[in-house]
Amino acid sequence: MKKTKISKAVLSFLLILTLCTGCAPASVITDPTAAVPTASPAPPPADASAEESPWHKFTRTDMSVFDTVISLIGFAKEQAEFDAIADEAVRRLREFDHIFDGYNEYEGLHNLYYVNRYAAQEPVEIPEPLFDLLSWCKEQWEAGLRETNVAMGAVLSIWHEYRDAGTKNPDAAQLPPMEDLQSASQHVSFDQVTLDEEKHTVFFSDPALTLDIGAVAKGYAADAIADYLYSVMPSFLLSLGGNVYAGQPPLDGRAAWAVGVQDPKHSTEVGSGGVLDVLDVHDKTVVTSGDYWRYYVVDGERYHHIIDPETLMPSRKMLSVTILCDSSVLADFLSTALFVLSYEDGRKLADSLEGVEVMWVLPDGTVEATEGMADYARSLRGR
Ligand code: ADP
Ligand code: MG
Repeated sequence: MKKTKISKAVLSFLLILTLCTGCAPASVITDPTAAVPTASPAPPPADASAEESPWHKFTRTDMSVFDTVISLIGFAKEQAEFDAIADEAVRRLREFDHIFDGYNEYEGLHNLYYVNRYAAQEPVEIPEPLFDLLSWCKEQWEAGLRETNVAMGAVLSIWHEYRDAGTKNPDAAQLPPMEDLQSASQHVSFDQVTLDEEKHTVFFSDPALTLDIGAVAKGYAADAIADYLYSVMPSFLLSLGGNVYAGQPPLDGRAAWAVGVQDPKHSTEVGSGGVLDVLDVHDKTVVTSGDYWRYYVVDGERYHHIIDPETLMPSRKMLSVTILCDSSVLADFLSTALFVLSYEDGRKLADSLEGVEVMWVLPDGTVEATEGMADYARSLRGR
């Protein structure tokens, strides 16, 4: 099976990017001067104090990894320095992309595809990032957070197959038969996944189980790239599809980076529908899961890509959920989980987590948010 190629939605993203608003599938970079598609120095600053600044703003856009649009904005002293950092960031992202790839094999690499193929036969030794990510996900499962279940590959792959077929041939689009989903749902227990810390291996005791790490892989990679950027160019804004990571504030006098939240009510694809709100952030990550991204249509109804483990159907409780916190893997995990939970249950969970802020858009368009979100969201300031 081949990985889906850069979609129309992503191309429209790029178009919008060139029109000066950088949009990720979910969270959007709205900083108007920030999203120039090719790396170029910022225009000379207007005020005299900033004129002496040795810092210039540069931008890189890349579409070659993670099946999405990556953008990096950073303040560096010169173009060559920025270019070297952006090259290294993309190189590291490509490594993650290969390790987390569930559809393609790479010579000598025990990536997710390899694991799904062989881990039921014998324990498979896996690279550190994959081991680390799976261990973290298993900890969440053991703590009772099971709405985001990366061991649900058996169910998710059925949806994936029907969505792919229905996207290629919309007139013949069909829903997966419930019997198929139900029998797959017998093989989704993380308890059947053994991770051996010493040997760094993974083993499936259930041969019908597979892993799908789509809900968390970009978040994990965003954290790792952010760590690297902090060490070489701390003032940055990284967007990995819907995962945005804002480093230290921009070095042009502004106190924070502006990250937009796409309006899911009017969105039919990435970058459409306008901006619901703008979050002013630094040293934080912002991740959105929405129903307007990766969906297909059957009999006039949209069926999107976030599946409720209870009903085995796309969850209809939310239009979008945006998480703001320090860890992108946590934000990615939670954006999927809170998309599946009711607002009430999600709110209880969010309120119990230190340093996690959430913005929900409910099916009727109502916006709800945790108290602390008012420190960041322009529409909630002074609420
Ligand atoms: P996006 O892919 O738009 O970033 P998410 O972070 O919410 O969105 O992840 C959605 C992906 O995660 C799906 O494409 C699918 O591969 C997987 N997924 C869907 N539902 C679940 C779920 N309940 N638990 C774990 N993974 C899921
Ligand atoms: Mg997610």
